[in-house]
Amino acid sequence: MAWAGKTNSSGRSISQDEVDLRLSAERPYTYFTMELYDQKNGIRGGGGLGVLAADTRRVAEQLDVPFVLLTPFYPIEMHQVPVAGSVADFELENVALNVHPSNNGFELIGETYIATKFDPQIKIEVWQKQLGSTRLLTVYDPNFRELYADEGSSNHRLYQEVVLGFAGMQALKLAGLKSNVIQLNETACFFAALARLDDLVQNGMHIFEALKYVRDHTLYTNHTLVQAAEASFSRAQFAEFVLPNLQSKSVARWTMAQFPDSEGHVKYADAHRLADNTDAPLRLSDITLELAGQKSGVSKLHAKVANYHDLDGNRIHFDAVTNGIDVETWVLPSTVKMFRELDLLTKYNLPTHDFREKLVGLTGEKIWAQKRGGRALLVKALGERGIQIPEGAIVFNFKRRFVDYKRPWMAFSDPERLAKILVEADAYYILAGRVHTGDDNMMRHLETIVAAVEANPELKKRVHYLADYDEKTAYALSVGSDAAINNPIVGLEACGTSWEKDIMNLQILISTEDGGVADITPAAYLKIEGENEADEVESLYQQMERACQLLRSEELADFLQGQVRAYLPTISGARMLGDYLRLLAR
Ligand SMILES: *Cc1c(COP(=O)(O)O)cnc(C)c1O
Repeated sequence: MAWAGKTNSSGRSISQDEVDLRLSAERPYTYFTMELYDQKNGIRGGGGLGVLAADTRRVAEQLDVPFVLLTPFYPIEMHQVPVAGSVADFELENVALNVHPSNNGFELIGETYIATKFDPQIKIEVWQKQLGSTRLLTVYDPNFRELYADEGSSNHRLYQEVVLGFAGMQALKLAGLKSNVIQLNETACFFAALARLDDLVQNGMHIFEALKYVRDHTLYTNHTLVQAAEASFSRAQFAEFVLPNLQSKSVARWTMAQFPDSEGHVKYADAHRLADNTDAPLRLSDITLELAGQKSGVSKLHAKVANYHDLDGNRIHFDAVTNGIDVETWVLPSTVKMFRELDLLTKYNLPTHDFREKLVGLTGEKIWAQKRGGRALLVKALGERGIQIPEGAIVFNFKRRFVDYKRPWMAFSDPERLAKILVEADAYYILAGRVHTGDDNMMRHLETIVAAVEANPELKKRVHYLADYDEKTAYALSVGSDAAINNPIVGLEACGTSWEKDIMNLQILISTEDGGVADITPAAYLKIEGENEADEVESLYQQMERACQLLRSEELADFLQGQVRAYLPTISGARMLGDYLRLLAR
């Protein structure tokens, strides 16, 4: 039996969860996402949401789970490169690259059409790539522009989302597939559920029955903490982009009945009372919650604090499925091999039943052998960017999107103090991240960091910034650094996964207790804490000093064993997929 052994951390086998769902090659687990971060397959995303999608598919492939991922193929890919000749590397310029599915191993399997009010037939191509038991199905339109073009509530975004939903459901048919359960990676994928509803009603099912069916077969995964931050669209926008794609009048009526009128939400039964002239926009999250019977958040803390309400004002319950990672993608191959040899991980990348006891085998000698291999890779990657790190030096890294709540400037709050820590321990600090176009506030923060670094000769030597953060940079820094810094404002990180890459690659994690890190208490990592930001800064510096001590002492093995002991099940992407299957089978 190929399935024996694929037991997840709760003891239930993944195959059993699949049987409960009746997944098959023709009726696969169907995953919709606006963003996929999978450079190996030619698609570059923007951040954690896309990395999660790519990892979920890879894990499904390793576990032989029938799985299809639907995503747009964007014809434009944005890169951030340093402005040539700029004093510091922080000054960035956005560069657009043209990309096409045919250059990335996809085959064209057909075309379908999307309608708008002004154009009844927009051709959408469907390209696919089979990867083991999984496939990537992409919808392509040369006018798609890039991922996250324009504002969240703009016409173009709505257009992109409508294409993924409606053309995506058509793409499944072109590929000869029927959707079983569908997972919506964020509300932007809502139109897939709506297209399915329309399809069922068009095929003769009563709308109430169809609503129940769609709810029973749809999981919405939320990554956003605040409902107010969600995109919303006007009636006029829906009339222009959504309604022309609906075949069924009753589904069109149901859709428009979700718009709030001036007195708040009007239920379907009262739809006839709706005045068509109200202007209040519809939040995509509201209508998604109406169609998705299962809802999940991406860590325990996130599921608990995500403050979402349905149209009647009831607080929404989110199940927690903490993001895991594909260990084979993000961990140095020799380290994965060592984890297997120590009997910590099964060949399906699930923790073994007694990995906690087996961890004593992770000795200092074994750890340093892995770290040396990872460092060689990092040194090479940095060398290509003209950065030299001397042998024996300690490397700290901060690598993540540069958004406010992640606080990339935190370690630079007291430049003298940072310089002292780095000099005394012979340590280096490497930053990598991308700034959102138009985030002027973050650009000012970066300028402050640059000024601090420029003004201090030691920092100038020991702090480096890597522009155009991507999977390759993330991997090199994960496998080759000694300590990772993760300091989001507590309560604002949904999960985060880069800290998981760091723990598996035997780095010390220095982190606030947030996102998926907060899944496990007490802290097995070096915790940043404090009543206010000044205290947290002090705590960060102390933990950096502590990390340097640990790295130069015999205690390191014990500490790293503790991190892996606490987090291995959380980090396992196979555990995550099992959790999703179980949730969907419920
Ligand atoms: C892992 C990874 C992420 C996820 O980062 P978090 O800040 O931990 O959510 C984002 N971007 C890239 C390129 C990654 O490799």
